[in-house]
Amino acid sequence: MNTIQVNPLDEGYVKYTADHTQELIAVAELPLWKELDAGRTRLYDLGLIGTLPKGIGFGNVSIRVKDEAFLISGTATGNRRVLGPEGYCMVTSFDMDKNRVRTSGPVKASSESMSHGAIYRACLSARAVMHIHSRNIFDGLLRDHCPCTHASVPYGTPEMARAIIACVKEQGAVSGLIVMAGHDEGLITWGASVQEAVDLLVELYHRYR
Ligand SMILES: [Zn+2]
Repeated sequence: MNTIQVNPLDEGYVKYTADHTQELIAVAELPLWKELDAGRTRLYDLGLIGTLPKGIGFGNVSIRVKDEAFLISGTATGNRRVLGPEGYCMVTSFDMDKNRVRTSGPVKASSESMSHGAIYRACLSARAVMHIHSRNIFDGLLRDHCPCTHASVPYGTPEMARAIIACVKEQGAVSGLIVMAGHDEGLITWGASVQEAVDLLVELYHRYR
């Protein structure tokens, strides 16, 4: 096992730590896996998942596997249209206050995986979570006063995870949407199925294009 420490803000904040075990996981045997990868490709084709000009990937997708364990697309995979089973990582547990995740798989999880965990913790019926980046949707939703985490809450912090939980509980919905105002262009959708969470993003893409 190796432990990776990343401080996304370099502000002496609580560091993001991943205890990662490099091992093969039976991704292809998970019932929703194919639907997840196909949904991710739909988002990729709309430019909602991809890479910035500097080559940094953005956007990640996940499904709940059991309780708070979830399967999430790996870090630095934004340049690939189709991931296949080797592009996913299992988050087996997480500690929100310590900003620490325990993961296993052929690739590592993104430091954004805590945001997915926050949704699964707050909404027990959520089966799938999508995090994408879009200038148009982000600006449009903020203009339209969509539920959002406060702009002062930065990406990759325990505060963001707690703000997401508060926001989900406020909505009290099976499926939903949160704009992360402190994470430029970033938003999250979730649903009782992969299709529900992806369809919502496709609808937003067309609404704000
Ligand atoms: Zn992001």
